[in-house]
Amino acid sequence: MAFEGLADRLQNTIQKIRGKGKVTEADVKEMMREVRLALLEADVNFKVVKDFVKKVSERAVGQEVLKSLTPGQQIIKIVNEELTELMGGEQSKIAVSNRPPTVIMMVGLQGAGKTTTSGKLANLLRKKYNKQPMLVAADIYRPAAIKQLETLGKQLSMPVFSLGDQVSPVEIARQAIAKAKEEHHDYVLIDTAGRLHVDETLMNELKDIKELTKPDEIFLVVDAMTGQDAVNVAQSFNEQLGLTGVVLTKLDGDTRGGAALSIRSVTQTPIKFIGMGEKMDALEPFHPERMASRILGMGDVLTLIEKAQANIDEEKAKELEQKMRTASFTLDDFLDQLGQVRKLGPLDELLKMMPGANKIKGLNNLQIDEKQIAHVEAIIRSMTKQEKLHPEIMNSSRKRRIAAGSGRTVAEVNRLLKQFEDMKKMMKQMSGMQQKAKKKGGFK
Ligand code: GDP
Repeated sequence: MAFEGLADRLQNTIQKIRGKGKVTEADVKEMMREVRLALLEADVNFKVVKDFVKKVSERAVGQEVLKSLTPGQQIIKIVNEELTELMGGEQSKIAVSNRPPTVIMMVGLQGAGKTTTSGKLANLLRKKYNKQPMLVAADIYRPAAIKQLETLGKQLSMPVFSLGDQVSPVEIARQAIAKAKEEHHDYVLIDTAGRLHVDETLMNELKDIKELTKPDEIFLVVDAMTGQDAVNVAQSFNEQLGLTGVVLTKLDGDTRGGAALSIRSVTQTPIKFIGMGEKMDALEPFHPERMASRILGMGDVLTLIEKAQANIDEEKAKELEQKMRTASFTLDDFLDQLGQVRKLGPLDELLKMMPGANKIKGLNNLQIDEKQIAHVEAIIRSMTKQEKLHPEIMNSSRKRRIAAGSGRTVAEVNRLLKQFEDMKKMMKQMSGMQQKAKKKGGFK
């Protein structure tokens, strides 16, 4: 995950000061030296680091902090607040035009993830905000770009407006917006051309599109893995075009995180979304305070809850709970449950959002094997209806058939059946305990 090194170092530093009943100015100085090094090592812009350390130091040596009953805790709170502020303070929301469609221009260098992010953003707008977006293929230079966007559109069942590569991007944008008005789309996302470097021809073309479409948002898509380069790119795009927001991609990768911490401060442009993977649902609104908590090891429970709310069918969850309680849980229900959990995203990413998760030894190296889950699903899917409802009828010829059907071994089939049996036993015991407790009137 991004920020791993920074998170580790900052957490070690604050660990030292956390429980201290008495903190001196020298302690604060020592701590700030470590914070400074941690930030520089994470590739945070030099000037940003200097300002940050200065602000935190000034607040930390304030009389009321050092004299308070919990100076260590107070200092951690200050670091958390300043880190949040550095990344933009409040979450920056996406614009809504009162004369639809809302027009969003997606700009950025080649390979930053512009086309992918356009698809992801359209998907998010529809899923989370109930909007009807239209994608516009205006990158006529990269040979595969139009095709790529059309493929994404098909995959998402999202309309893509394209006029091929012989019409100018400005004209494509003009016709696209007219069409969007006609068809009542509320968002238009224009995927513009990228280049390998910032160059004048590109900027002039983008300025022309801006002039014509009067976009409500101009989002720069930058690759977080490129560190300080991302900050420089953001600065020059901002000077030329006037950005309204930045989307930082590839934060799921092994980036040190410096870009996320510097961009807002250097360019005064808020980070609006972060890309957390290649899949179409791997885009999250950026919440500075949650990111600060993640970096300081305080967890990101809010994002976890939101993911659960967006992806888990509540009716189904209630039904499952009822079944567990009455111990009438079948292999089919088990399959359902696995499916629901999987919808939340990669399991190791989820675990890392838990408070204190990176202090649990071994968790960082833990690779939850998603394949294992897929194997379990394959085995259950190879069973007949009868077998799923009554696993006790399972004999060796049935097991062999299931193993062959799912491409797994008989031993794996046995292991799954045993686990399922154990689980049911446990559910029975638990519901038994609940019944007893209810009679005694002790359990809720
Ligand atoms: P464009 O040239 O800016 O349009 O870039 P593309 O959209 O073609 O993306 C370039 C590559 O980056 C593709 O392989 C994407 O799958 C990948 N990519 C984009 N966003 C993310 C992200 O958030 N995480 C990861 N891991 N890969 C990403």
